[in-house]
Amino acid sequence: MSMIQGKTGEWEMVIGLEVHAQVDSNSKLFSGAATDFGAEPNTQVSFVDAAMPGMLPVINGYCVEQAVKTGLGLNAQIHLRSVFDRKNYFYPDLPQGYQISQFLDPIVGKGSLVIDLPDGKTKTIGITRLHLEQDAGKSLHDQSPTSSFIDLNRCGVALMEIVSEPEMRTAEEAAEYVKKLRNLLRYLGTCDGDMEKGSLRCDANVSVRKPGGPLGTRCEIKNINSTRNILRAIEYEAARQVEVLEAGGKIDQETRLYDAGLNETRTMRSKEDAHDYRYFPDPDLPPLVFTQEFVDNIRKTMPELPDQKKERYIREFGLSPYDASVLTAEKQSAEYFETVVKGNDPKLASNWITAELFGRLNKLGKSIEDSPVSAQAFSGLIKLMGDNVISGKIAKEVLDLMIESGKSAADIVSEKGLTQITDTGAIETIIDKIIAANPDNVAAYKSGKDKIFGFFVGQVMKETGGKANPAAVNELLKKKLS
Ligand code: ADP
Ligand code: MG
Repeated sequence: MSMIQGKTGEWEMVIGLEVHAQVDSNSKLFSGAATDFGAEPNTQVSFVDAAMPGMLPVINGYCVEQAVKTGLGLNAQIHLRSVFDRKNYFYPDLPQGYQISQFLDPIVGKGSLVIDLPDGKTKTIGITRLHLEQDAGKSLHDQSPTSSFIDLNRCGVALMEIVSEPEMRTAEEAAEYVKKLRNLLRYLGTCDGDMEKGSLRCDANVSVRKPGGPLGTRCEIKNINSTRNILRAIEYEAARQVEVLEAGGKIDQETRLYDAGLNETRTMRSKEDAHDYRYFPDPDLPPLVFTQEFVDNIRKTMPELPDQKKERYIREFGLSPYDASVLTAEKQSAEYFETVVKGNDPKLASNWITAELFGRLNKLGKSIEDSPVSAQAFSGLIKLMGDNVISGKIAKEVLDLMIESGKSAADIVSEKGLTQITDTGAIETIIDKIIAANPDNVAAYKSGKDKIFGFFVGQVMKETGGKANPAAVNELLKKKLS
């Protein structure tokens, strides 16, 4: 799976990702203008953002804290001194004519991110750096047949560019990396991770090589806006490169655009080198300098992060690594689990959240935040099962009814008379009746056809409307049939 099969043998993918994460902050990186999403065009633009002559940028301390916090979450080196540079290029929606970014001295240096693989294993991906930079505005070409418009609301919004080492080897690993990074940012509260609104954007650098060979030339794919498209874009691009190389061609280092509609990548421009941007330190901004104490204070505000939570769930609740990573994959599902698990069996709680609840939410197209069944209510359902008031089978029905009606599990069970029959006398009576009515099957079972046992269980369940306690049914049936 991890290798691409070409005509000349196997090829290995090499992937490095650049993620642009919008800093969760009410105001922009160098101005006090607001950052609300979806505001009327050009209503959140200060003179600084519009690059009026003589305006001076002033660094937003909160954005600096957010970047440091993210750096700590990535186990990265925090640089107490960093420098803002001008990266020069022309975009119609970038009135300054340059972007203020960080080049040689970023605020955050080397770190790492642990990604969870489907087989329960993990892999550590190196983080090269995280730097702060401003976003550009937006050109609107679809508002009028004859003109283009420019909206500068996004201009100057703070971004963290998070660059990984080229250490991913499959498209799945890359998708996992983005998922995990997004998850981390959301735990930290430093970026809302909303890919649809463009708060998290991903560029994928892809090359291919013969296993163990030197790194190939990479192409950078821009414009990937969902985890699904990350998978598809990378797979397409790697296959394209293999085809070019096997036909005797060579890969040009370039920036390509992913077209989700056609599922293909196309040349956008040949890749600039850093020197094309004429980076130089922004003369309007002194180096950014802060103390170790500033960093330590931020460290004190760090919440429990997904990896720590996962470890704790394994240790404290005895969950499997897989279940623990599913539950901690979103802060909200971890919170949900932690409410449900209070006073309940952890494994039962975990299984029912990951299988039954998530399955139903998926069908409804809802996330755990807007689950129609609250964690409190779900906890009530698990409790009824744990106390043997209802069987798992009945619990599934009850859960459906909870979603439909918004009623509590206990109310539904008492209204519908779903309480499990644990009275062995009552179950025995039913079993006797079934045995008497099916002499052929009894004989077959006794002659060694073990499978017939299931028939008897089914009959008892049918007779009791699924309410008989399954363990009691099994035990009594075995006794009566032997
Ligand atoms: P640039 O701004 O030129 O894109 P960056 O340093 O910001 O450069 O990012 C380079 C990205 O490309 C990193 O994520 C890095 O891991 C990745 N990369 C570098 N070399 C390769 C390669 N041969 N194949 C795939 N990815 C690569
Ligand atoms: Mg880059």
